[in-house]
Amino acid sequence: MKNIVLTHATVVTMNERREILRDGAVVIEGNKIVDVGKTSEIKKKHKMDVEIKCENKLVLPGFVDCHVHLAQALIRGCADDLSLVSWLKERVHPLQGSYTPKEGELSAKLCCIEMVKSGTTCFVESGMHWRYGFDEIAQVVEKIGIRAALTKKLMNLRGYADFPDTIVESMVEDGEAAMRQNIEMLKKWHGKANNRIHVWFGPRTPGGATVEYYREIAENARKYNTGITIHLAEVKDDIRYMRNEFNMAPMQFMQHCGLVGEHVIYAHGVWMSKKDFKILRDTKGTVCHCPASNLKLASGFAPVPEMLKAGVNVALGCDGGPSDDCYDMIREMKLAAIIHKGRLLDPTVLPAEQVLEMATLNGARATTWGAELGSIEPGKLADLIAVDQHKPHLIPVRNPISNLVYAANGGDVDTVIIDGKIVMQGREMKTMDEQEILERVQEEGLAPDKKLGLNITSSWPVK
Ligand SMILES: [Zn+2]
Repeated sequence: MKNIVLTHATVVTMNERREILRDGAVVIEGNKIVDVGKTSEIKKKHKMDVEIKCENKLVLPGFVDCHVHLAQALIRGCADDLSLVSWLKERVHPLQGSYTPKEGELSAKLCCIEMVKSGTTCFVESGMHWRYGFDEIAQVVEKIGIRAALTKKLMNLRGYADFPDTIVESMVEDGEAAMRQNIEMLKKWHGKANNRIHVWFGPRTPGGATVEYYREIAENARKYNTGITIHLAEVKDDIRYMRNEFNMAPMQFMQHCGLVGEHVIYAHGVWMSKKDFKILRDTKGTVCHCPASNLKLASGFAPVPEMLKAGVNVALGCDGGPSDDCYDMIREMKLAAIIHKGRLLDPTVLPAEQVLEMATLNGARATTWGAELGSIEPGKLADLIAVDQHKPHLIPVRNPISNLVYAANGGDVDTVIIDGKIVMQGREMKTMDEQEILERVQEEGLAPDKKLGLNITSSWPVK
């Protein structure tokens, strides 16, 4: 079998001892990492069919983005400076509600290219509407070579928390049909593309489904042995709703509905409290921290250092085009690392190393690939990236993890390997014609706005 060998790199292994190897090398055979060590030793032990020289590069596990809206890349910048409910009702839902599979596919292509180019090798989709075209989007993931848990949005009510009818008509789906489609897609796509594609369940936020419906989702996820992701406790309104309607904290409500377990990701968790931390830890659930989105929408500060201290698994996510507005996990890591220091007036919380764990190992653990991902060790899946450190903003290198988290950005990612295949090298996409996609987005990207007669632009005069 032909191998790929990355040589002369600084290898951030993320192994049990968190070893960092100077002048290190990684050997890949098929879709697996088979050896890791010093370049001189590796060269003695292995032939090299394809050598990728990584001088001045940091090689590390690819990022796992645990909360992505593929359909929102195309509506980047559509809803600045709005509160969550107006953001949803006035802009995001009407625009997404105008999608045909053509827009869904284009948005997914744009989003996947952006993710790969900033070092994300695996992501969890937050829940796709049927109108975006599940099949077409799964084909995009298959072709581009990224690893993904794709989810179908599931709902049987039209509300958000205690706001009735928040979901605009064009985004309303029939509960039974949505469940049937989710299962149909699961049977068709789960395990496809050499097991790079998994299909999960994506229930809508409390207010968007009944307890019975949530229980049915939980039962199906167990039956098909797959994951679930749901937005939870994102804004204060969520807490009020669950307290007033059910007299429960968010995680008590999740437990009541059966939506708990090792492969359940709760996006945001801004308003989680100690009661929730205990349930999260005991049920091995994961909170996906989305700092940029939480700050832009003024949702609040998730108690991340507090959750980690309580033994909760906390991962990281970029959320979507109108809330972040980019899908760059390195920028997300920096925010996560600095905002909690300011909030707690404590610079010792969330060191760069711990944030990198959130973006890799913690995210991996939450997914249905689990222990196969998140570190560079023999036997693990070959999902890894090389970050160019030879740049004015990234030298000198004292602590390479510090430079990565505090000083780098997605544009510094040079090479991306997913499932043993080179997806990007020298910043050039190998699996898709990037220019063609960018041109299509330039031409067709504002089609949803046009359909609705919206003219979203700067508040300054544009001439
Ligand atoms: Zn979201």
